Amino acid sequence: MDFNLPHEILQMQEMVRDFAVNTVEPLAHEIEETNRIPDSLMRQAAQLGLFGLSIPEEYGGVELDMVAKCAVYEALGHAHMGFGGVISAHASIGTTGLLALGNEEQKRRYLPRMASGELITGFAITEPSSGSDAANIRTRAEKRGNEYVLSGTKHYISNAPIAGLLTVIAITDPSQGPRGLSAFLVEMDTPGVTVGKIDDKMGQKGALSAEVIFEDCAVPASALLGEENTGYREALKILTNGRVGIAARATGAMERLIELSVNHAKLREQFGKPIAEFQAVQFMLSEMAVDMETSRCLWQKVAWMVDNGKNVGKDASIAKLHATEALSRVADKAVQIAGGMGYIKEYPIERWYRDQRLLRIYEGTSEIQKLIIARALLA
Ligand SMILES: Cc1cc2nc3c(=O)[nH]c(=O)nc-3n(C[C@H](O)[C@H](O)[C@H](O)COP(=O)(O)OP(=O)(O)OC[C@H]3O[C@@H](n4cnc5c(N)ncnc54)[C@H](O)[C@@H]3O)c2cc1C
Repeated sequence: MDFNLPHEILQMQEMVRDFAVNTVEPLAHEIEETNRIPDSLMRQAAQLGLFGLSIPEEYGGVELDMVAKCAVYEALGHAHMGFGGVISAHASIGTTGLLALGNEEQKRRYLPRMASGELITGFAITEPSSGSDAANIRTRAEKRGNEYVLSGTKHYISNAPIAGLLTVIAITDPSQGPRGLSAFLVEMDTPGVTVGKIDDKMGQKGALSAEVIFEDCAVPASALLGEENTGYREALKILTNGRVGIAARATGAMERLIELSVNHAKLREQFGKPIAEFQAVQFMLSEMAVDMETSRCLWQKVAWMVDNGKNVGKDASIAKLHATEALSRVADKAVQIAGGMGYIKEYPIERWYRDQRLLRIYEGTSEIQKLIIARALLA
């Protein structure tokens, strides 16, 4: 077993980590105030190749395998989590479906602009009446001649307000339940698509999510992604892949929080010495390190499994469940070590505490991950 990442991946990881800490983080206050990612950051992210991490080189991407992509996500985890959220909704769940199922024409049409960051994407399955029960959606895609006509409402869709393209899951055969869903590539300027109110979220400012409404929205038959009525199966694969990336981002966030906590513990003095000298504080730091390292081992293993063609359904859930729950524990301890400062908006810990909470909810809640793991064990 070799845990060493190839030199060029380590270099890219280092570059992204440096960008996260020295370029993104100084703009965190601006992102919080404006709830938007500055254009300059989006341009620099494009230059670093972050929008095309898994897109093949022939379409202008960086073409990383899963281990390498997750290594970059881990580095990105050091940045403001809203910024990381925009990148991962695009480069992960927004891109995976097209890469896996797209025909040559669809790939040529979209991938080069996706890789350059000119075209931002997202993935839409969740609806007001179906979240965890994702197979139970209501959005219809009715075949009429050479078109599909979409009607329905998606909500909480990441990147929707800035996206030019969404992978949308809709019902094509209502008689077949989950086997009657299909995936579509829907351009956001198609007549009949409206982006609703932007969600006012607890955290991850700048990563905008919103409702997306389809009213008699006609898309050409060529917008169908993969085969008709295989959409649910494909959506699960997209989400499974995404979960490994979330585990990697969570690991990076933990590493950053540990750095901030170690620095604070060494500098802050009480009772005449740095609080780092108190065993209670040392124990918190140790527990944080255990949570971070175990999460790293998990994403590395599961990403390796993906690259080696193994079925990762259960393992991706284990990685996401562990890493996101671990991140919450780490964020909580980071607040505790920072004391009052950890609760004050002027300092970064308070933001990390709010931002990380989403990771236990989206792309399948912790409870849904447990269901997937238990089902696999009992099967
Ligand atoms: C900021 C944000 C961004 C998002 N981005 C996207 C996106 O880009 N694309 C997209 O399609 N969706 C997106 N989502 C939706 C997200 O994936 C869902 O919110 C999530 O899957 C949970 O669904 P829900 O909110 O309807 O909660 P519910 O499904 O109503 O769950 C509520 C609670 O019940 C629990 N629960 C539900 N069913 C079970 C069960 N069978 N057993 C045990 N417990 C259960 C859940 O774990 C949870 O604790 C986003 C959500 C947010 C908040």
